[in-house]
Amino acid sequence: MSGKVERILKSATSDSELKRDEIISLLEVSAPDQKRNLFSTAYEVKKRTVGPVVYFRGLIELSNRCNKDCYYCGIRKSNRLVPRFRLEVDEVVEAAVWAHRNGYGSLVLQGGELQNDSHTRYITEALSKIHAATNNELAATLSLGEQSREVLRQWREAGAHRYLLRMETSNQKLYKQFHPDNHQWESRMQCLSDLRSEDYQVGTGVLIGLPGQTLGDLADDLLYIRDLDVDMVGMGPFIPHDDTPLASHVKTFDKNAQLEMGLKMLSCTRLLLPDVNIAATTALQALSDTGRELGLQAGANVVMPNVTDPKYRAVYQLYNGKPSINENSEQSRAGFEKSISSIGETIGFGLWGNSPRYKKRNC
Ligand code: SF4
Repeated sequence: MSGKVERILKSATSDSELKRDEIISLLEVSAPDQKRNLFSTAYEVKKRTVGPVVYFRGLIELSNRCNKDCYYCGIRKSNRLVPRFRLEVDEVVEAAVWAHRNGYGSLVLQGGELQNDSHTRYITEALSKIHAATNNELAATLSLGEQSREVLRQWREAGAHRYLLRMETSNQKLYKQFHPDNHQWESRMQCLSDLRSEDYQVGTGVLIGLPGQTLGDLADDLLYIRDLDVDMVGMGPFIPHDDTPLASHVKTFDKNAQLEMGLKMLSCTRLLLPDVNIAATTALQALSDTGRELGLQAGANVVMPNVTDPKYRAVYQLYNGKPSINENSEQSRAGFEKSISSIGETIGFGLWGNSPRYKKRNC
């Protein structure tokens, strides 16, 4: 293996933080032994900082209605081919109770971005009823796009603990390329700052492998995420969706290359931010049957088993080839248990799974 990569990994695991050019060098590695070394070094860091444990976040996809039009997303407002749905509050609570009974310590309520009073009330009611039905024993994460500070406060008071808002990219030019003019990168950053002010545990992430994105962009993304001082990172490889404007610009799509870059980014994130929670996202699984396991072995420590009624899953597709759309919650759970035990890790049943970084900030 190259001496340079070995030196970078050694210094990243001692007292020196990864620099931009070092991140780029790690993202460039192509020899199998170098890749193995990168992934296993990040995995060792993960075991040292968060332990050999994987936290479950029961994922409830509560609505595919969205007022935004991101050019890469299958549920964007202008996609008329997708039937729209929103779960009844009782259905949300039913899924949450199932997760609670099955030992999940936390939930993610995810949906498109809507900014109106009725949506605000709907989420507030769902949060209140979930907590009442589960003895306040579940940590609740929201992933519902940009919202005003007042709305974030209302949801925080109703029992939301964490919020995931992907920045998508730190490169404002790229952001403009993949979003209509009325989608502002600055408002996204403002929302991330408001989330911290409203006392949420904050998560963010980026799309990896967008057309035109460079390794320098990805390194800048990681450094930007470091500076945001987040508690959680959830990022995934870009996968085109046929019914989106961006799909027509993707001439060739190399699944293996996207998977590999996704794993390298996970590992670099773990080396740069040893004590945050990092998700092995579903997009990895969409690129390879073993994508989830590979993500955990590259430094991730969180997975999000879907607990939504399967009848809704097929119409909640942000990209082509979303896996497990016909599985019910029991089957999803069994699949996760099998893959986690296959790599010798345990599941943190009943645990909220706050990141060590969050614990340090609050002690
Ligand atoms: S990425 Fe999010 S905000 Fe953009 S269209 Fe899709 S669901 Fe809506």
